[in-house]
Amino acid sequence: MINLGLIGWPVSHSISPLMHNAALKALGLQGEYRALPVLPHELRDFPDELRDLPDELATVMQRIRSGELLGVNVTIPHKQNVLPYLDDIAEDARIIGAVNTICMKDGKLTGFNTDAPGFLTDLTQKMLAAGHDVSAHGSALVLGAGGSARAVVRALSEAGWQVHIAARNLSQARDLVDHFTQACSTQSAITASLLDAKALLPQIARFRLVVNTTPVGMTPKTWFSPWPEGLALPGHAFLYDLIYNPAETLLIRQAKEAGLAASNGLGMLVEQAALAFEIWTGIRPPREVMVAAVPEFTNR
Ligand code: NAP
Repeated sequence: MINLGLIGWPVSHSISPLMHNAALKALGLQGEYRALPVLPHELRDFPDELRDLPDELATVMQRIRSGELLGVNVTIPHKQNVLPYLDDIAEDARIIGAVNTICMKDGKLTGFNTDAPGFLTDLTQKMLAAGHDVSAHGSALVLGAGGSARAVVRALSEAGWQVHIAARNLSQARDLVDHFTQACSTQSAITASLLDAKALLPQIARFRLVVNTTPVGMTPKTWFSPWPEGLALPGHAFLYDLIYNPAETLLIRQAKEAGLAASNGLGMLVEQAALAFEIWTGIRPPREVMVAAVPEFTNR
């Protein structure tokens, strides 16, 4: 019996159980993937009746060590919180500073990050399908400097892209530049600026790829776009929006209207899940079954 789960808070709306349970079923494997809600420490101090709860993260980690759970995914707000519980951290996860997949490997409780390879795999497929030459790389513009930006910057810089991070908080973007410049072996330059028309206009023509890692445009506030007003999108770029709900964000519509090929983040979501499944079971799950398990709200 394969027991898998997702730790996070809240996790009740996650579509990960749908994807993983569909993969288990399609492969004829006996098992279940469940949401495992783990309250963040900040909330555990309040109210009183929650104060004496056992350390739930430690409990889940022990369940993996004992073999009761084969592995777990980790989501917000625990992607960093789990780090002190691990014996080993795979290189991507260590450099990104966040873990989204855990299991026992060679007798060690090990953390992985499948967001970076999941993003790069899907990006490559989507760019190729749109007729873009992925081997030529060039300059990529990343909007936002939060958690998912870290995985995207890691993936792009390792793949040879010159990455420019544009964020509303310039010091957050500069912190990412410093971190990845030191941590990554790549020689590709990483730069940063404010996410506004004035800062981006002088360099906009050089970008061959634009990646949105901000939540701007996500359901329910679908009428917003992170793209600065008054700035034209770079004509020959590919646009990748990590948001998958709605399937077509305002940014994707803006890109298509400007003649750009564009993709939402559903493929990344499926790919990072599939890579985690493969880490736990050693079996490559059928992507099409996992995609089909995602609810209709994405309007595939
Ligand atoms: P996060 O850690 O909160 O980072 C969000 C970033 O966006 C921060 O830099 C934040 O800046 C910036 N931001 C927020 N509101 C903004 C605004 N109005 N204008 C400009 N910048 C703004 O979030 P995350 O975990 O990276 O997730 C971001 C999005 O990616 C979400 O929609 C999530 O669903 C999606 N995502 C998709 C996948 C996938 O598999 N497809 C995976 C991961 C994430 P401040 O720090 O200044 O607020």
